[in-house]
Amino acid sequence: MRGSCKRGGFAGGKGIGPVAWRSNLRCGVKHPTPHIFEMTPDSLAAWCSAEGIGGGRAFVAKQILEWVYTKGEVDPERMTNLSKLDRDRLAAKMTFLSGSVVRHMKASDGVQKLLVEWDEPAGAIESSGDISLPMAGGREQGKGTGLQTECVMIPADDRRTACISSQVGCPVGCRFCASGIGGLDGNLSVGRIVEQVWRLGRLEGVGRITNVVFMGMGEPLSNFANVTGAIRILSSLWATGISARKITISTVGLPQAITRLAEQFELPVTLALSLHAPNDEIRRQLIPWAEYTTIKDLLSACQKWFEKTGREITLEYTLLHNVNDRPKHAKELAVIAKTLRANINLIRYNEVDGMPFERPRDANVLEFQKVLRDEGVNVHIRASRGRDIKAACGQLRHETAKAAGGR
Ligand code: SF4
Repeated sequence: MRGSCKRGGFAGGKGIGPVAWRSNLRCGVKHPTPHIFEMTPDSLAAWCSAEGIGGGRAFVAKQILEWVYTKGEVDPERMTNLSKLDRDRLAAKMTFLSGSVVRHMKASDGVQKLLVEWDEPAGAIESSGDISLPMAGGREQGKGTGLQTECVMIPADDRRTACISSQVGCPVGCRFCASGIGGLDGNLSVGRIVEQVWRLGRLEGVGRITNVVFMGMGEPLSNFANVTGAIRILSSLWATGISARKITISTVGLPQAITRLAEQFELPVTLALSLHAPNDEIRRQLIPWAEYTTIKDLLSACQKWFEKTGREITLEYTLLHNVNDRPKHAKELAVIAKTLRANINLIRYNEVDGMPFERPRDANVLEFQKVLRDEGVNVHIRASRGRDIKAACGQLRHETAKAAGGR
């Protein structure tokens, strides 16, 4: 259906905004309807007024949002404090869920993972304002494995962390990651990003989501407007009310994108830099985007981030056996961490079928950590969670696509 209809501003998939789509019964083609998860109280009140919903009552928008976020209800038929006419209009004109869960897996350690398939089409790939973002290896939009993304709920003590995706596929194409296989299919809209958190919070036994990490599929800073727009909603008290400080944007890092976040986004989010290598040579072997920058330039952008926001950066470092997990690499990494006064999270690699990397040996991980500690660096080894359900980024989608005959 992509490109079949010019109504509602849709012109072949390029340049469309963050809209949800549903079948119009009258003519059988898809037209855009707004998605409840991209609405604010003001925008929803204006929309209700324009659609004649609520009979001019200003608080109808508040009632609807309470149903969605407080009571977890997304079926307008059950919004019993609305009139039957309003419920029917809402059902006809508003998209409540833009995706459907095609797989739901529960790990033995309590981690739960959803594979969500989104309605067509994928979101337009953003021009990203003043930043020209490359596509790894010349990959193109629409060559990926379908409009599926993954999100994961990770329980730990009193925390419930939602690990969510920002894009369908990924333009970066890290050579050890399943999410980059097939390139980028599109951006997730504001509503689709928020919907993931809402869905994870509705899983049995979860309750309230306390933390959000953009560590699922995609490079969040190449979907800047939608990611920052979603964070504004997620941190609002009328929605999920998650403190911005407990929302982490994890980026593979282009210096200008980090600077843009520092200068153009007002909320105090946490920034994590996916470094994964102790020097440019190894980084370029692992991360195609590293061709466009140097660690030195990244450190300079991170320093500016710190000066502007006062918030320290975390360095994420995925340990790959015999690639970047030697003591000499730890010594190089220590110099970087001390330059930034950054904490380091060490992540043990989870193997992906068909990729030539191995999980690091436990002894090497501990030795790597010791070298960093001896250098005075604050370092943690992240617990591997959900291994039995392939919780690492992109693995479930990749396997589902392979089983269906895709790549
Ligand atoms: S590790 Fe992150 S940035 Fe790299 S390909 Fe995977 S999702 Fe993209």
